[in-house]
Amino acid sequence: MKSGEGKVVCVTGASGYIASWVVKFLLQRGYTVRATVRDPSNPKKVDHLLKLDGAKERLQLFKADLLEEGSFDSVIQGCHGVFHTASAVLFVFDDPQTQLIDPAVKGTLNVVKSCAKSPSVKRVVVTSSIATALYNGAPRTPEVVVDETWFSNSDFLWEQKMWYQYAKTSAEEVATKFLTENNIDYVVMNPAVTIGPLLQPELNGSSNLVLNLLNGSETFMNAAFGWVNVKDVANAHIEAYEDGSASGRYCLCERVIHFSELTNILRRMYPTLQIPDKCADDKPYMQTFQVSKEKAKTLGIEFIPLEESLKEIVESFKEKKFVSL
Ligand code: NAP
Repeated sequence: MKSGEGKVVCVTGASGYIASWVVKFLLQRGYTVRATVRDPSNPKKVDHLLKLDGAKERLQLFKADLLEEGSFDSVIQGCHGVFHTASAVLFVFDDPQTQLIDPAVKGTLNVVKSCAKSPSVKRVVVTSSIATALYNGAPRTPEVVVDETWFSNSDFLWEQKMWYQYAKTSAEEVATKFLTENNIDYVVMNPAVTIGPLLQPELNGSSNLVLNLLNGSETFMNAAFGWVNVKDVANAHIEAYEDGSASGRYCLCERVIHFSELTNILRRMYPTLQIPDKCADDKPYMQTFQVSKEKAKTLGIEFIPLEESLKEIVESFKEKKFVSL
């Protein structure tokens, strides 16, 4: 018997990059999935979900918006589990409060309040980010290992105007506080920059970081980021949901590398492509650091190597005609 047979779970923001893979793997495991989207009539948001194996029998679409109070009440009612993945993932915006912070913080509170109203909900999986761990004032150097005990300082992020990071850190704080106070079991996923094949037809923010390197950009960012494959992220969500002994946060990161190294890998893989070989500034390269894999391993995650993830995302771009190679 499959692990999800007879179980109903909700995935918020189901049309998104990570959530689409979560939905795919949940359907594969036999779950009935209640998928929330803002506009179920938009084929670009739902067609790829409706085509998934098992969707005809076990996928139900619901309209819900993070910013509407009570929007998730009816869909969560009767669910065994909730995967709260919806959040605005934007790096260009006019007003961080309304575009990023409110959907993340008010939206998350809205979803967890709906969970509290449904006694059927046995566990909530919150999609957070490694951004909620990295910014605590401690230096990050190649010997430093970031792990689940690291927490970003939201005051620092506010002062620095790091709005996405601030929104995710605040959202994780409100979610864990509310869920703890209301005695609702939860786990938190803290993925690094997520790449790999796209199921959805439209480009998402983290995929765009790689696409930018393939579309004629002359420079790369002076930044060292952690990277992880979207399939590992989705699997970790479901393993953490199913494993009764799972608890707390899970850092999900295969490797931290600087863009100079990432572009070297891409150049070796695609020698005919124009990949930038100049850094965007003259400052010393931002240092790398490590992210602990120990806790993720307890979920059975053996991370897909970054080289493979890059290959997969570039092939996906080709297939979707985002690049002509
Ligand atoms: P994505 O493809 O942009 O998906 C985000 C989803 O959130 C979209 O489906 C969107 O729904 C939904 N959403 C946004 N605003 C909403 C609102 N007001 N009401 C309801 N839904 C709303 O992003 P992703 O990369 O898959 O990210 C998914 C989650 O993982 C986010 O919580 C993100 O912070 C986290 N994360 C992502 C990465 C990464 O590198 N990708 C890394 C760490 C953590 P519509 O389709 O209806 O617009």
